[in-house]
Amino acid sequence: MIRKDFFQKDDAHAVALGVACHKLLGAEWLDYEPRTVYEELDRLGYGLVPEENANKINAFRVAKKTIMPWVDHESFEKVVHGLLGNLIHFELRTPLSIAQCMVGVDILRAIQQVPFVDDVKRYIAACAKHDELDYLPEPLTFAMPFLCPNMYECLDCGNVDDDDLEDGQCDVCVGRYEDGTVNGRPEEGLEDRGKNIRRFEAYEYAQLASDYRKVSRMPIDHVKLNEDNHGLQLAMLLSYGKYREEHQFNMTQQLREVVNERSLL
Ligand SMILES: [Zn+2]
Repeated sequence: MIRKDFFQKDDAHAVALGVACHKLLGAEWLDYEPRTVYEELDRLGYGLVPEENANKINAFRVAKKTIMPWVDHESFEKVVHGLLGNLIHFELRTPLSIAQCMVGVDILRAIQQVPFVDDVKRYIAACAKHDELDYLPEPLTFAMPFLCPNMYECLDCGNVDDDDLEDGQCDVCVGRYEDGTVNGRPEEGLEDRGKNIRRFEAYEYAQLASDYRKVSRMPIDHVKLNEDNHGLQLAMLLSYGKYREEHQFNMTQQLREVVNERSLL
């Protein structure tokens, strides 16, 4: 039973709102004009949907009907803002915080299972740099290769470069840059060169990752953090994790109220 004030609550979760619309209006609601959705809900006695929740419902529809948020970073940014109830500025760049990216990815995954493309991963990595984070825990670890690129060092010529090598051979030693442009394959006669490379990650984040795993399992008042960059990053990640948990808790609670079976989606 969906309570009559369900669509009015500030903390209404985008997925619960979407599933509630589905249940009340039938699968066709995804093709309605946005205005029709709100008129129908009002007609059924659920009142006028506040703007914040209307943003969540609209964003839910985009994520249910298209795969845009998974394949285009601008769409990802706008849809995640919408899912969180924020006003969407279509002309403005309004970068997401990492906390918003985390919750956004959780919500998108609850709506559809689609792999994120590099464009979105790169965007999330840029958000992490903006938040001055060196490490991204779940659900954002898939963006780590763009935050901390893999590198290689050629032990023959000393070249240090991004590791985008498909053949595992140093770009310089095989003359891939001969004319100033990358020509993909080794120059004739140089095919066997440049195989003596050492691969590494651009910086060290393993300590941060392992400390985060440790402290995130501890009761919060047992956690003692240093007042340095390392401690600051851990504190940020812990607070983001908490924000994520709150959203997940809300979603589970509210879905229970809306419907017992997620299969209705
Ligand atoms: Zn080399």
